[in-house]
Amino acid sequence: MTEYAAVVIAGGGPTGLMLAGELTLAGVDVSIVERRTSQDLDSSRAGGLYSRTIEVLDQRGIADRFLAEGQVMQVQGFAGIPLDISDFPTHHNYGLALWQREFERILAGWVDELAVPVLREREVTGFAQDDTGVDVALSDGRSLRAQYLVGCDGGRSVVRKAAGIEFAGWDPTTSWLIAEVEMEEQPEIGMRREGGGIGPVNREKGGGPYRVVLKETHLGHRSEPPMEELSKALVAAYGTDYGVHSPTWISRFTDMTRQAVSYREGRVLLSGDAAHVHPPHGGQGLNTGVQDAVNLGWKLAQVVTGVSPDSLLDTYHAERHPVGARVLKNTMAQVALINPDDRHEALRETMTELLGMDEPRKRFAAMLCALDVHYDLGEGHPLLGRRMPDLDLVTANGPLRVFTLLHNARPVLLNLGEPGGLDITPWADRVQLIDAKYVGTWELPVLGAVTAPTAVLIRPDGYVAWVGDLTQRGLADALTTWFGPPTVA
Ligand SMILES: Cc1cc2nc3c(=O)[nH]c(=O)nc-3n(C[C@H](O)[C@H](O)[C@H](O)COP(=O)(O)OP(=O)(O)OC[C@H]3O[C@@H](n4cnc5c(N)ncnc54)[C@H](O)[C@@H]3O)c2cc1C
Repeated sequence: MTEYAAVVIAGGGPTGLMLAGELTLAGVDVSIVERRTSQDLDSSRAGGLYSRTIEVLDQRGIADRFLAEGQVMQVQGFAGIPLDISDFPTHHNYGLALWQREFERILAGWVDELAVPVLREREVTGFAQDDTGVDVALSDGRSLRAQYLVGCDGGRSVVRKAAGIEFAGWDPTTSWLIAEVEMEEQPEIGMRREGGGIGPVNREKGGGPYRVVLKETHLGHRSEPPMEELSKALVAAYGTDYGVHSPTWISRFTDMTRQAVSYREGRVLLSGDAAHVHPPHGGQGLNTGVQDAVNLGWKLAQVVTGVSPDSLLDTYHAERHPVGARVLKNTMAQVALINPDDRHEALRETMTELLGMDEPRKRFAAMLCALDVHYDLGEGHPLLGRRMPDLDLVTANGPLRVFTLLHNARPVLLNLGEPGGLDITPWADRVQLIDAKYVGTWELPVLGAVTAPTAVLIRPDGYVAWVGDLTQRGLADALTTWFGPPTVA
């Protein structure tokens, strides 16, 4: 039996859930196919959200749900060298300590409210695409017909493999044990020189259970590690295993670093870990997947609903592939830097000194929390292709924050000049035109103060697509490029 959904998403992890939410907000019918029985995760995985992810959740009006359950703190670090972002020009000048299992539970709650169907306990096993759609094969023998299929099915993505997309990159050089355990004795808490270490799972309360991450002496293990291996690794690192017992789970991860050479093959797209894998240093994997989803969601929705041509989807690869490549490179550099020998230690001291200076700190921190992302939309005002700051505006109806205007994931033309001075009637069915005043300074992370524009066209993902300078020059082109051709009256 074949059922239909405009978009099928393989995988309901962080990336698949975020994408499903974005598509649903844009009025597209979507189905998630997920292997897991429930949203529960058998391990804690990602430890938190970076600033830009909190911002995009704020753009949808759901950041408070996550902030209420995590701990706001300065989490940014490069190879363990702390980078404070409290002087960054954003309402969220911090990170959020929140385990992935909590993040997924809260995000799944939102997706559930949006009534997205999740087909659980089955897998996408393959697909066949033609000129009009994709037939998605499921492990229960059924198939789904869709206009587009998005592989959000993790690092071992079946969708990526079936699409024949090369996963280019580097084999692992190092492996780490990771576990959640109880300990009879009080362990030494904190990071180790070579990376990893021991910390409480409940970061607020402290004490056990503990999360342990330990570098292994050699690579190439095929099976999940037994408890004796963890015990031996603890003794090798600390001289004792602290009476380790009652593991909730034990696993391992490596520094394998790979990226899909293309994020699109016809009607099939890749997002999140399916498109890029890298070591967890700097805490960027989950966050990058969420950002992929927010970039892709509105574009795919516009193509599916006939607002924009299919070529809009090429901008997804053009914008997100370079961002992913940069994440891969910075994680490789971080793994190299935590090598525990004297020469790397000397290099690390040099980097620590360098990152203690204001300009390098700002650059590296903004890179690691994605506040510096700059999509190449051509020459122009520094805001072009960068994230729109969440300004406190004044409108005829009272005060309003920019991010509030993005809650429904629709584009916004913000007119900060003469009220009524802009006319976008041929796009009025798609783009909200808001007259507002803003009296403060315009400040961007790393770049600092920039010239105040008179108007800004903001995409649903919060990036600036056009900047006005008292004229409407280029506005019609930008509206057509990003939000489809004008409607003829
Ligand atoms: C130890 C560790 C620490 C980490 N720390 C951080 C951190 O601090 N910050 C950070 O941002 N990231 C971190 N990460 C990375 C983060 O966990 C991943 O980047 C994130 O889970 C990717 O989300 P995803 O939705 O793209 O893929 P996944 O989370 O892998 O989700 C894929 C989903 O697809 C399902 N699935 C797979 N195949 C199929 C199929 N064929 N059909 C249907 N369903 C399928 C799976 O069940 C799963 O639910 C860490 C990872 C590890 C291992």
